[in-house]
Amino acid sequence: MDENVNELISDLKIYLEYLKGMGIDSLPVSDQISKKVLPSRSETQTLADVRKELGDCKRCKLHRTRKTIVFGEGNEKAALMFIGEGPGYDEDVQGRPFVGKAGQLLTKIIESIDLSREEVYIANIIKCRPPQNRNPEPDEIESCNPFLMKQIRVIQPKIICALGTFSAQTLLQTDTKITALRGKLYDFEGIKVIPTYHPAFLLRNPEKKREVWEDMKKIAEWLKNNRTNGTMEKWNGG
Ligand code: URA
Repeated sequence: MDENVNELISDLKIYLEYLKGMGIDSLPVSDQISKKVLPSRSETQTLADVRKELGDCKRCKLHRTRKTIVFGEGNEKAALMFIGEGPGYDEDVQGRPFVGKAGQLLTKIIESIDLSREEVYIANIIKCRPPQNRNPEPDEIESCNPFLMKQIRVIQPKIICALGTFSAQTLLQTDTKITALRGKLYDFEGIKVIPTYHPAFLLRNPEKKREVWEDMKKIAEWLKNNRTNGTMEKWNGG
């Protein structure tokens, strides 16, 4: 049989096993499973649990070419979460998100609002590097999505900064261009989402840094205004 057909059958088997593992034993007739919804709070415990569940993931074809799964890193209780597109060469080698040239710029961007990488959480729409850094494909995004949703559910960030077209369009489920999306606040199941340009795009278009700086100031301002320092709980019984 043609090698491509064999590969297709093998991918289909992996996908069906994956659906079975999720308790789906019949094929969906609509695109129900592509809905990006957060799992219920009770379904998730810690990031370590999510990582364990992900295991040595072979749910999509990217497992064949990746070196390392790039799960994400940072503060499990971060108020601010950054979500990029997917690992590149350096991330694939090191197993950490945003550690290449674009990552170094992201670190500076984070520090520009007086935060550190350790204080925020950094993840990607997909956890494995696509060959030659091509764009993620729909089936790859689909396979990875439940794990990103679980990470978001565990972290419960107050605001997510979606880095670049893929991240913004996937989270907000829209085809609208990043130029139109950026700089505005959206709601994702009670979490604010602010799309901005991807740091790799900024490396090629440094004149766009000014707009990202405006977006970062908006994030800093929003975090400042929505800080939940105090609680009235201790008043009870007093
Ligand atoms: N670009 C991304 O979108 N994510 C990374 O982790 C690195 C580069």
